[in-house]
Amino acid sequence: MLKNKYKYIILGWWLSGLSTAYVLSRKYKEEVLVIEKNDTLWWLSRTIVTNLWDRLDIWSHRLQESYLTNIIRFISRELNIKLNNIIRLSKLYINNWFISYPINSFELFKKISILKSVWSLAQSFYYKVKFKQKDTFEKTAKSRVWDYIYEYFYQSYAKKVWGTPLWELSNSIMKKRFRLNPFTLAWQVLSKSKRYFLYPKWWFWKIVDNIESILIENKVEFILGEDKYNIIPDKNIIEINGSSIIYENLITTIPIDIFSHYINYENKNILSYRGLYIAYLYINQSPLIQWETFYFPEEEFIFWRVSIPKRFDKSSQSEDNYTIYTVEIPAWKDEYDYNYMIEESLIWLQKSGLINNNYSIDYDNTFFHYEPNVYPMYKIWRETNLDDVLSGIHNKYKNIYISWRQWLFLHCNVDHTMDLWFELGNNLLENDNNLNWQKVLNKYNNCVVRD
Ligand SMILES: Cc1cc2nc3c(=O)[nH]c(=O)nc-3n(C[C@H](O)[C@H](O)[C@H](O)COP(=O)(O)OP(=O)(O)OC[C@H]3O[C@@H](n4cnc5c(N)ncnc54)[C@H](O)[C@@H]3O)c2cc1C
Repeated sequence: MLKNKYKYIILGWWLSGLSTAYVLSRKYKEEVLVIEKNDTLWWLSRTIVTNLWDRLDIWSHRLQESYLTNIIRFISRELNIKLNNIIRLSKLYINNWFISYPINSFELFKKISILKSVWSLAQSFYYKVKFKQKDTFEKTAKSRVWDYIYEYFYQSYAKKVWGTPLWELSNSIMKKRFRLNPFTLAWQVLSKSKRYFLYPKWWFWKIVDNIESILIENKVEFILGEDKYNIIPDKNIIEINGSSIIYENLITTIPIDIFSHYINYENKNILSYRGLYIAYLYINQSPLIQWETFYFPEEEFIFWRVSIPKRFDKSSQSEDNYTIYTVEIPAWKDEYDYNYMIEESLIWLQKSGLINNNYSIDYDNTFFHYEPNVYPMYKIWRETNLDDVLSGIHNKYKNIYISWRQWLFLHCNVDHTMDLWFELGNNLLENDNNLNWQKVLNKYNNCVVRD
């Protein structure tokens, strides 16, 4: 039963919102309301053909062994979810080679040749000295990695992913996205340890499903399938479905541009994002090479990442002879039509050697998902503008707490997402103010995303 007043209202039902609700609802039963625009509770998963998967994550979500241990412990012990350790077998396709990814061996040196490697290292030192102010993507990238890698990887990857002239992109991309530099590489070569992925049994939706069961026990209320509400921040009211609900604290995990519209706060329109099509191609051929995840930074490939779920999750074996390839295509909404994306993907899957030309594709089962807010457009000055919006709202409304995961960029940050939001829950319980909260955000804002 909905009440007309809550201590906490949280916008967004997924890992962030649920993590905060989890912490708050342990102390304040019946005092937390979560509002979500989708009507299914697991928007990252979807029910598809029976006998294949009960539910399929929209992409191949996994944890990494380097994740924060408190989060791994929370998932395995408190949520009681089995995490399967799978040796990581990812490959990067670059200039017609498949090499280990993340790059962690002598492979790269061997491929490039010793002479070229030494020359390349010298180049990156040269750029380090030459570019005094490393304020753009290109300058920072070049002074961190050698020209060769810049050309084949960073430059073409950035063009493909952001779809914008490179001079518009700021160096935050390098700070948040890429770790590779000659010294790290040298260290990785020496340490040679194996890397693992951790796959939650039944995939990611199981994490949220289990948190949700706890929240229901803690009497958290949910409103689902609703984004047509009004927020009146001066009165601490949300008008929804004909009722007015008062909040003491409003916590938002939804895109900041959408949130600023709700509260009529001027958004300088710099917080835009590029999205991603994920094609689920049903092909009657197993990949001709053995690894499970493939990265294709070069520009001519329509996709950036291709995963073969059955290679890392036995429960996703198809009963017929088809293999599902999840193919991620960075794009604006409606930038390409579906047939074009399928045809291009098939061409490039063949060129990469993953399939040969004796395949057939099941068009009836093949489907697409579009995820709009994946790549923050890291334009120059974005961070300053973002800071302005955040402190503007936080200063004006002391009981609003903002964050959302896209600051942390794309893959493999679920531990940061959850940790951040547990921390918010704890801060709220201690009645900390939202300006301190903003300082906490900065800590997470500087996280480097893992691949
Ligand atoms: C392609 C891709 C692959 C990824 N792979 C991995 C991986 O392998 N491992 C990993 O650890 N992480 C991965 N991530 C990151 C991971 O998905 C995120 O960290 C996680 O989903 C963050 O959850 P969140 O709750 O913070 O934010 P979101 O996922 O953005 O959730 C926000 C919620 O708000 C809701 N919402 C939006 N607008 C409104 C509104 N107006 N009113 C109410 N609700 C609204 C949305 O429907 C959504 O439920 C990946 C991300 C992407 C995009």
